Amino acid sequence: MPKPKIIVIGAGPSGMFAAGEASKLGADVTTLEKKPLPGIKLRITGKGRCNLTNIAPIPQFIERFGKNGKFLRQAFHSFFSPDVAALFKEMGVDIQTERGGRVFPNGNDAPAVADALVNWTKKQGVKIKTDTTVTELLINDNTIIGVQTKEKEYKADRIILTTGGASYPVTGSTGDGYNFAKAIGHTVIAIRPALVPLEVKGTIAKRLDKLHLKNINARVFADGKKTGEKFGELFFRSNTLAGPIILSLSRNIVDQINDKVKNIFLTIDLKPALDNKKLDARLVREFQTNNKTAIVTILEKLLPLQLIEICLEQTSIRFDSIGSQITADERKRLRMWLKDFKMEITGYRPFKEAIITNGGVNTKEINPKTMESKIISGLYIAGELLDINGDTGGYNLQASFSTGWLAGHSAALSCFK
Ligand SMILES: Cc1cc2nc3c(=O)[nH]c(=O)nc-3n(C[C@H](O)[C@H](O)[C@H](O)COP(=O)(O)OP(=O)(O)OC[C@H]3O[C@@H](n4cnc5c(N)ncnc54)[C@H](O)[C@@H]3O)c2cc1C
Repeated sequence: MPKPKIIVIGAGPSGMFAAGEASKLGADVTTLEKKPLPGIKLRITGKGRCNLTNIAPIPQFIERFGKNGKFLRQAFHSFFSPDVAALFKEMGVDIQTERGGRVFPNGNDAPAVADALVNWTKKQGVKIKTDTTVTELLINDNTIIGVQTKEKEYKADRIILTTGGASYPVTGSTGDGYNFAKAIGHTVIAIRPALVPLEVKGTIAKRLDKLHLKNINARVFADGKKTGEKFGELFFRSNTLAGPIILSLSRNIVDQINDKVKNIFLTIDLKPALDNKKLDARLVREFQTNNKTAIVTILEKLLPLQLIEICLEQTSIRFDSIGSQITADERKRLRMWLKDFKMEITGYRPFKEAIITNGGVNTKEINPKTMESKIISGLYIAGELLDINGDTGGYNLQASFSTGWLAGHSAALSCFK
């Protein structure tokens, strides 16, 4: 009996896990990838280090995906972070765990991880055809029968669609899958950039370009209500706010901006370890012991250099003041500013700068136990193309691995039933 034919569209992490698993189970698997090289996005993940997954247990993992996280429960129970670690070990990639439970390869080398995954996929018997762009899904009587590429038609018993989202389109993820899904009757929840740098009012981000703030606490207020809070690192880069806490907070902020919520402010506590009383005592001490010293020099002990000018401007303290001249009112303004440095958020950067895509194929139309479409029989959809989006910390790659693996597993098993 000939082997059942499965075509996987897209050789990203979800596509390669799907293809490798389906082939391992005995299917004849071909992956069609439009770029000349498989896994291009994977090669730039984690700033080139590849944050593969996270050691958080399943309930906490699911929380990191917001309201759609529960869709992933079965995929995670089928194939989770220990399975990913074991499989990468089999591929020759050992892992290490860092702060926040983030898991990285020992070599900190994302391209090497991608190469190991490509080699493993091929070792399972998968044929990867690069420079091959799928243009249409072929359907007959609500059942998938194949795909059309720019060059020719491919017939198959099952198709696994893993074309990724719309972020960083240079890597090949240009959002083709959304159009394929819509064309065959799926609904696609409006896509928007997520884990994306933010724009702020005025010239402040430009003036603070390249400043890196660590151990700060940032809160978001939208129309006067607190809507988010994160502790960690933030940086100013090319007129924008970026860094881990900004990327995480951006998931809600993008939606608030799109919903036309007014007055979205980010307020930074630059001294989260000191409460108001302790901070005031510290300021009193600094001004007393340095009573003849210029305020600029005193502030160097409290702030990064780049922030001093902005601090003095915003607190209306004279640049030429010395310690003994600082009034109680000025000290209060300074303390309040250090605990509440505000910036108004005015926008977010486009898809080409977003780590992931929010929105996507409606998960209500996908069977969470198999990743099969509830609309088209024999079609499986996995990875970032689905309406799932997680926080930074290895959550998104794990979701791609888990849903991809489950799609490949179920698609192959369904052929042998
Ligand atoms: C800069 C950056 C850093 C990141 N770092 C991390 C990290 O450290 N940890 C983490 O968990 N997540 C990270 N992510 C997110 C993670 O990379 C994605 O969530 C993940 O790659 C999604 O996998 P996927 O297989 O669904 O899609 P993709 O990786 O986007 O793969 C989709 C593939 O489909 C191909 N394709 C598209 N259309 C077609 C078509 N018509 N025909 C044929 N092929 C097609 C594309 O060329 C691509 O190769 C990062 C993302 C970016 C942009």
